[in-house]
Amino acid sequence: MTRSRDELIVVCGAGGFIGGHLVADLRRKGHGRLCAVDVKPFDQWYQRFDDVENLQLDLREKEACATAVRGARLVYNLAADMGGMGFIENNKALCMLSVLINTHLLMAARDASVERFFYASSACVYAQDKQVDPGVEGLREEDAYPAMPEDGYGWEKLFSERMCRHYSEDFGLATRVARFHNIYGIRGTYDGGREKAPAAICRKVATAVLAGTREIEIWGSGEQTRSFTYIDDCLHGMQAIMASDTITMPINLGSSEKVTINQLVAIVEAIAGVQLERRYNLAAPKGVNGRNSDNTLILKMLGWEPSIPLRTGMERTYRWIYDEIKSGRSKDAPVNRS
Ligand code: NAD
Repeated sequence: MTRSRDELIVVCGAGGFIGGHLVADLRRKGHGRLCAVDVKPFDQWYQRFDDVENLQLDLREKEACATAVRGARLVYNLAADMGGMGFIENNKALCMLSVLINTHLLMAARDASVERFFYASSACVYAQDKQVDPGVEGLREEDAYPAMPEDGYGWEKLFSERMCRHYSEDFGLATRVARFHNIYGIRGTYDGGREKAPAAICRKVATAVLAGTREIEIWGSGEQTRSFTYIDDCLHGMQAIMASDTITMPINLGSSEKVTINQLVAIVEAIAGVQLERRYNLAAPKGVNGRNSDNTLILKMLGWEPSIPLRTGMERTYRWIYDEIKSGRSKDAPVNRS
């Protein structure tokens, strides 16, 4: 396929949750030239569109990155080997190997004179000693230093953020970095071991409802706090950050609606119309005690912050996961194609 540089937008990790939604959104907005890249076989992508150039490539490989970004004006890097706490605590080396993806993509983007490059970082870059109290105030961008991020996954994210910064400073490649705080929503992972708390809780409640059981297992004491960002807010923020001429340093992209995991369970129970007996697994991975996003900077820079209420986003997510489980669709089945 010939590529016209002025228009081409490349989305890496497009077979995944956020990447799939980004391709769908760019397509809805009428961007004519899109390229979607992922290592997974096409039949395992959450969303795939036949009018988009779809490539199956292992972006840890330098040559594959050159192929992916050739002729691109904009590159979004949403590709990473990652999952929820259960996955990242037990797969630190695998998570850190994602450094190859971002590094080789940056090298290829520079060589291809890409106009702008987006990197999806994470709240896991924040120093752990600032997240010991469940009553934590929001984390500000400067709280990533002195560095003591989440072992494995967080170190890779922090290193890759810095790599973006130095590619900008040393080589003039314009980079944009957003620190995502727990993105959730429909058409993402809800079982298999890589799922995150909102999807896992929806799955557990839906399974209990469908099976008529009365119990739910919760990882940790349930008193750990987090904020959760609905996918539509993430899509809006990500593209606004990419379009900004002034946001040149990593910036939070997250809701500031802080809840405990117990409160999140109660929200899903209310949506499902059940009340379950809670069994706390204190040995399970639970992450830091408290985490929330401070949105002062994004409000100042964009005049906007994520705003979809948790109850609204969880309602959509629960209904989708409930339907998926009820219909017996496998976790790897593609759920949206055209
Ligand atoms: P996801 O796992 O659904 O998507 C990531 C995609 O990257 C997957 O489809 C995977 O197959 C692909 N990938 C992995 N290795 C690859 C390789 N070598 N070559 C090509 N593709 C490869 O995850 P997501 O939730 O969509 O996350 C997207 C990005 O956002 C990731 O960088 C993630 O670390 C970051 N992030 C996500 C969240 C969240 O809550 N979802 C929070 C913070 C940061």
